[in-house]
Parts: sequence; C-alpha cells; structure tokens
Amino acid sequence: EGLSTVIIGRPNVGKSSLLNSLVQENKAIVTDIPGTTRDVIEEYVNVRGVPLKLVDTAGIRETEDIVERIGVERSRQVLKEADLILLVLNHGEELSDEDRRLFEAVTGMDVIVIVNKTDLDQAIDLDEVKQLSGDHKLVTTSLLKEQGVDELEEAIASLF
Ligand code: GDP
Ligand code: MG
Repeated sequence: EGLSTVIIGRPNVGKSSLLNSLVQENKAIVTDIPGTTRDVIEEYVNVRGVPLKLVDTAGIRETEDIVERIGVERSRQVLKEADLILLVLNHGEELSDEDRRLFEAVTGMDVIVIVNKTDLDQAIDLDEVKQLSGDHKLVTTSLLKEQGVDELEEAIASLF
C-alpha cells in the first residue's frame, strides 16, 4: 500500500511538480493555470525505503467552479486519512491567509513544510514560516532547477 502522503498548498505553488519530481515521471498535469489539478491524483513511490502513496490534491479552498469543488471535497476526505502532509509554499510570494489556514488545518499531523521556487526573488517571510512550522521539518526547493529534492527525501525518510 504505502503511507498516505498528501500534498497541499495554494494553486500554482508547485504541488504537481513536486509529485512529478518524486515520482520522476510525468503523470500529473503541470501548468501555470491555477486550478488545473481538478481531481485527486495518486502515485506510489518508494522514497529511501519508505513506501508512499503520494496524493496531489486540488487544495482546500472555496471555489465557484463545480468541477473544482468536487476535487476539493475529495481532498478534504483524503486529508483526514493522511499519514504525512507535504505543505508547499511559494518563496516568490508573500504568505497569504490561505497559507496560514493550511497550517491550522494540519495541526497535530506529521508535516514537512516545503518552500518552493527558491529560484524566484524572496517575497515570503521566512521567519513567519518558521514560526508557523513549529516542530515541523522545513525544506527549501526549486523544483524547476531540481534543487532540494534530496533534502526533502531525507526529511521524509527520517520521519519513518
Ligand atoms: P500546482 O498548481 O501547485 O500543482 O503547481 P504546478 O506544479 O502545476 O506548478 C505551477 C507552475 O509553477 C508551473 O508553471 C511550474 O512549472 C512552476 N514551478 C514549479 N516549481 C517551480 C520552481 O521551483 N520555480 C519556478 N520558478 N517555477 C516553478
Ligand atoms: Mg497541480
């Protein structure tokens, strides 16, 4: 089976790119259009001996789009059953209230916080990220430049 590992984050932060990087295939749809991932995509992957069922969600947010809403409802369900959460943020954007709500939504769970897009100029407040992260592991990546994935895999393996 695999430990249910759910990737959450605002649209466009790089969730599908993350799944692709870990799976090293290209089954998830990656585009620059927010809301492209309208359903939950699952991939099985072995990270340093740890079997994971990776789940790429449509995110948890309110939306008017019915097709998206179905994806969002399913992602809520999936979140409840998660063994591990990968919470993705964008280095190139300021933290939003939506980001902060995601931290609240995963309180008490095993979480790795990923600040992606480090190739972009820093707009995120890393002190606040650290504060919100608390005891969670924090990893920075540029999935575009294939940086930080090793560290992320190490962080995952060290939890199990
Ligand atoms: P999702 O909506 O969270 O699933 O985000 P995607 O994985 O679809 O990525 C959204 C956009 O950001 C795509 O154009 C990606 O190529 C781009 N992207 C992903 N990772 C990075 C990164 O590390 N740096 C930059 N500059 N762009 C990235
Ligand atoms: Mg996506």
